[in-house]
Formats: sequence, structure tokens, C-alpha cells
Amino acid sequence: MIDARQVERLLGYRDPDGAVLSLYVDVPAQPVAIREMLVRVDNLLAEQADAARDAPHTVRRELAEARTWVREALATHVRDWLGHGVALLAAPSLGLHEAMPVSWPVHTRVVADRRPYVRPLLSALHHARPYYVVVVERREAWIFRVDGESIESVSKLVGDGVRDSSHAGWAGYEEYNTRHRAAELARRHYRSTAATVEKLLAANGRDLVVGGHEVGIVEFVGQLPDAVRRRLVGTFVVDPHTMTAGDVRDLSARARDRRRREHELRVLAEVADREANGLAVSGIEACGQAVNRGQAAMLVVRDDAVVAGFDCETCGELTPKAAATCPHCGGPLRPVYDLVDELLARVVQQGGQVEFADQVSGAGGSGEPGSVGPAGEPVSAMVRSRLVRPDR
Ligand SMILES: [Zn+2]
Repeated sequence: MIDARQVERLLGYRDPDGAVLSLYVDVPAQPVAIREMLVRVDNLLAEQADAARDAPHTVRRELAEARTWVREALATHVRDWLGHGVALLAAPSLGLHEAMPVSWPVHTRVVADRRPYVRPLLSALHHARPYYVVVVERREAWIFRVDGESIESVSKLVGDGVRDSSHAGWAGYEEYNTRHRAAELARRHYRSTAATVEKLLAANGRDLVVGGHEVGIVEFVGQLPDAVRRRLVGTFVVDPHTMTAGDVRDLSARARDRRRREHELRVLAEVADREANGLAVSGIEACGQAVNRGQAAMLVVRDDAVVAGFDCETCGELTPKAAATCPHCGGPLRPVYDLVDELLARVVQQGGQVEFADQVSGAGGSGEPGSVGPAGEPVSAMVRSRLVRPDR
């Protein structure tokens, strides 16, 4: 499982000759579709070999070795990755050989460049971290681990037993006491479940989704330590005694996606707000300028389109415009596969934040009600201080 630190680490791999190979594959959920997927990958790898045919001999040899490694790693592990997106990154001379499955589509493609292509990894990190589900009620709790399409039951916790208050007996006072005691036992059960969940989450970057009856969810969430509550990415109502694992998987994923869309809408609303005050910009060119000046505090990716562009060999200026020389310093420009990926990498390395709002953006093509912002802009950036608007 990947986290943001791993992406930063990957950005440390650089080869000036451009012999870093990134293969992204959406592995089908059904084994019968593997063959077709491998044929597609072989075609993409052959196209990459063809595109590099004029490169120096050492670069071609390096890329050939990288292609062999990613292809073999894919064939060896494909059955472990059914239903996942996978990044396979290789640069033999840099000692880079990594395979990372994620729970989000990555769009099958091959990229050879100076460093690993990281945009699909960052996107997966933002959209779909694996998570635990806790379904709680007053006496029991069920814990599941969800990873993409798969769900696994981890454990069932049972609180101290107490008789149902409806059997409390004849005296109102005793009934009050029994009810009171039942509530206390439920609280204790929620607390101990919360402690178990805290331990589970401590060791990894997973999120948390909570299900159950409405009152139980509220009481349980109230017992979660702050650090755990920050990782709560959704809640859903379910009857624990009739639920199936499939129900839990679907309901939790829907709850998580709903929360995610709300979050994206908030991010886009903030962009719009800040843009009105000159503290955010939209569009690949304006964002490029903000990043070139080290001014982008947060880059917001609004759709998943690849945007071709250029990188100055001398000063590192990023620009979408084809030109003979760098508009900033006159140095030579080299084409880059995806300017959005370059912007993301720069912002991460500058210590800025990245966000993905492609599920709700007008540009995302989801057509959802509530779409905000200028349609068609692939990126926006929140900037550190007011920028002088570029002349257009
Ligand atoms: Zn330049």
C-alpha cells in the first residue's frame, strides 16, 4: 500500500537520459480477461521500444531491461492484483524496481521519462485509500478490511453481557437501574472497540468507515480519539443482524465516495472564493506560472486528461506552449508527456499540497448536479500570495 511519503521518495529517482519506465495497468477483476490485458500491455511496450529507437545505445539497453522487468513482474503477480490498478516502475541503473497495487483505476499506459510518472498514484491515494469498516451496535462490533473490490472479516468484538432492559422486571426503579447499566455497558463496549480500532489504524495509512444503527454510530464516533476521527471517511446505516459482507462493502464504498464528493465540492468552492480575491488561479498556463515561481500552495487537479507540454532544460520553466526556446530564459525546451504530472511533482517537492477534484468538476464529465468552477480547466492552484494576473 502506498502513501504520500512513498510518492515523494519515488520522485527522488532521476535519470537525465529519460530511461525511467512507468507501466500502469488496470488489472481486470476476472481472470479470464488477463490474457487480453497482457496483449494490450505487450503492444504498449512495443510502441515504447519503437518510440525510443533513435535514443543512444545505453538508453535503449536500459529501457529494454526495464521493459523486461515490468513485464515479468506483471506476469508473476497478476493474480494477486485482480481488480486493482498497478504501477510498475523500473530503472535498472538507478536500482528502481517497484510494483504498487492501488484501489483505483490508473488507466493502462506506458511512460518513459526522467523520473517515475506519479500522477495516477497520487490520484489513487486521494480517491481510494484502503480502509477498515466497523459495524457497531450496543453489545457487538464487527470489523472488516476493505481493499478495492475485496472485503475480509477481521474480527468480532463482544461487550460485557447485559440482559435486555425489556426483561428488567416489575419495579420502575430497577428498570431505570438496568437501563442505566445497559447504557454504561454500551459506552464501555464502544470505548473498547474504539481502542481496538485505534490500534488497528496506528500501524498503517488506512481510513475508517463506520456502520450500524444511527444512534449507535453517533455514540461510537463520540468515543473515537481525535486522531482516529480524522480518518473517518464515511458512515452508513445497516442492520448488523441481516447484513452480508457484500452489503458492507457496497454501503461503505458508497459512504466513502459520498464524503469524498462533498470534500471535492468544498475544495472547488474554496478555489472559486480565493480566485475572486486573486489568491487562486485556474488553467494549465496560469498554474504553470504559479508553480514556476514556487507560489503554488496547493494544486487542484480537476480532470484526468493528459496535457502535453514542455520543460526548459536550463531553468525548469514549465509551459504548455510549443516554442523554439524557453519564454523565460531562452534555453532549449524538451517535450514532457504530461504537464499536470510535472506540476504535481514540483508542488510535492516544493512542500505544497495536492488535491483531486475530478469526481465533481465540470471538467470531469461526471455531469453531476452541483458541478462547480470553470468547465474545461484541468487544474487550479491556490497561491501563497496575490499574483499579478498574466497578460493574455
Ligand atoms: Zn528557461
